[in-house]
Amino acid sequence: MLVLGLPVVVVLAGFGGYVLARRALTPIDHLASEARRITAERLHERLSVPNQHDEIGRLAAVINDAFARLESSFEQLRRFTADASHELRTPLSVIRGIGEVGLGETRTPAEYKEAMGSMLEEVDRLTNLVDTLLRLSHGDAGTVRLRRETIDLGELTREVAVSLGILAEERNQHLAVDVVPGVSVSADRLVLRESITNVIDNAIKYSPPASSIDIRVHADGHQAILTVADRGPGIASEHRVRIFDRFFRLDEARSRDNGGTGLGLAIAKWAVEANGGQISVDGGVDGGAIFRIVLPIDATPLGNVTNMPLVREGGR
Ligand code: ADP
Repeated sequence: MLVLGLPVVVVLAGFGGYVLARRALTPIDHLASEARRITAERLHERLSVPNQHDEIGRLAAVINDAFARLESSFEQLRRFTADASHELRTPLSVIRGIGEVGLGETRTPAEYKEAMGSMLEEVDRLTNLVDTLLRLSHGDAGTVRLRRETIDLGELTREVAVSLGILAEERNQHLAVDVVPGVSVSADRLVLRESITNVIDNAIKYSPPASSIDIRVHADGHQAILTVADRGPGIASEHRVRIFDRFFRLDEARSRDNGGTGLGLAIAKWAVEANGGQISVDGGVDGGAIFRIVLPIDATPLGNVTNMPLVREGGR
């Protein structure tokens, strides 16, 4: 019985095991062939999830989530490339236009000089744009080295307000700076200075002449808070998140007239987050905008410096 029965049992067990394994693995095969079909051009497609409650269903749902994230990153990248090309093309067409007009007929030396001046202005604009894009891409790649030191946030803010004071004066605006002394943060001075500059510069650009801009630095628990409140048109609540996106502008013509690139707030957001803080915008009392930069307070004595590679934040 044993001699005859054992081979039969072994064959049956082997066959049974094979059938079970095939049944268990077929859905995985199916998933793999579906996943293979999804390429960069077809990122909107998803894997079918036959049963959400078993292991295969959960695996398919996780893979679908990953595809959704990839799709949104691709979309962002596509939009960014389209916007960047558009921005780069505008000054190039202006330069070409000036050149063509200049060569159209013989002109006086003074006119040639003027045309060249206009061309150089556009070249400056292009250079500025390319530099900013390069800096943002270094930030994305995490290759920017931050030189962190303990900084008095109020002092730095005052410094920026003084250097931008001339712009406010030209527009007859008043920069009211109110800082609590000794609120220190650990940050890269140049990078943080740039974000403060961009926010105050926007407040000057986008609020009406002869208005007042309130700049405040104070501490709240473990947080250092810098607010810039203006009396401009403000930012509608539906735009308050997108305002920090690259090339996002509410009023394109006005931004261009002011020499804006639509990258100032994207840089400011990157710079604040690289230093461990957050930036946000709210509506002000008079309908203006209030930009808020929040950074963790640093308790170490002023003057300490550490070199830190930038830890990349997910998302962008
Ligand atoms: P830009 O170079 O166009 O100023 P930013 O990234 O600095 O680019 O700002 C993006 C857009 O946000 C601006 O074009 C403007 O429409 C809007 N904006 C920024 N700051 C303010 C402000 N203080 N008040 C009203 N609108 C603002």
